[in-house]
Amino acid sequence: MDRQPRLVTMGPARIASLRKPGGAHKYDHGHAVILSGGAGATGAARLAARAALRIGAGLVTLGVPPAAQLEVAAHETAVMLMRIQDAQTLNARLEDARISALCLGPGLGVDRAGPLLARALVDARCPLVIDADALTAIGKDGALMAALHSGCLLTPHMGEFARMFPDIEVPDAVTPRAAALRRAAERAGCTILLKGAETLIAGPDGTCYRHSATGDRAAPWLATAGAGDVLAGIITGLIARGHAPIDAAATGAWLHAEAARLFGPGLVAEDLPEVLPRVLSRLG
Ligand code: AMP
Ligand code: MG
Repeated sequence: MDRQPRLVTMGPARIASLRKPGGAHKYDHGHAVILSGGAGATGAARLAARAALRIGAGLVTLGVPPAAQLEVAAHETAVMLMRIQDAQTLNARLEDARISALCLGPGLGVDRAGPLLARALVDARCPLVIDADALTAIGKDGALMAALHSGCLLTPHMGEFARMFPDIEVPDAVTPRAAALRRAAERAGCTILLKGAETLIAGPDGTCYRHSATGDRAAPWLATAGAGDVLAGIITGLIARGHAPIDAAATGAWLHAEAARLFGPGLVAEDLPEVLPRVLSRLG
């Protein structure tokens, strides 16, 4: 018999943990690194980077191939840049940088995502947020699936989930859907956040959250290009700040949905990071 998925509620403890203590240094709030696609494909990672900054990561770095460096620099001021040409340079960067969370996938391109993810799964000493093209790469390569570990958080929408777990059917009803997601998380050995109008999160130990601000209360205008990239950035920023991946996923999904609700219809993805400060200040 499947356990009923536990509803996430934003209790005062969780909210208080989002406040930054006075007197802290920016390094105390963590360093989020997001890998970017090449020239002409940097937008998704830039959305994630802005979200990670807005949610309060102390430092945010975009790992860009040299050909895309000027493009990123022309758009971002508070984001730092790290040249990452290929998996070999990523390896070197992971050794020398103090990185508290690493995000791979938004706009990366499946061909670039596969080798970078393979390297990060072995060499990164921090949690990994794996989204978009990196999820598609996992669906194509069983070795990547086998290398996933408990420090990984996957954030698929239904299509990406089906590519990774073609044999796991995802029913519409919440309880059997949560059971399917839990099976996938146990098999992958990591946390999975399954996006949709009703976002569900499952950990490899069977913990499962149903998001209380989605479903009937979901803002339909959140279904817009780039919204998922912003969510990946919010979660990466929260992990960088010290939250465990499953807590960052639950809290991040709530903040993301709340930002959309607060902004209202007409939302585009760029608006989400800009609304986050209002969401945070309403939490007290
Ligand atoms: P992505 O497909 O990666 O761009 O992510 C889409 C984002 O929009 C996720 O955060 C989903 O949870 C959210 N989303 C998708 N469909 C809906 C919907 N019908 N109502 C509210 N949110 C949605
Ligand atoms: Mg996406």
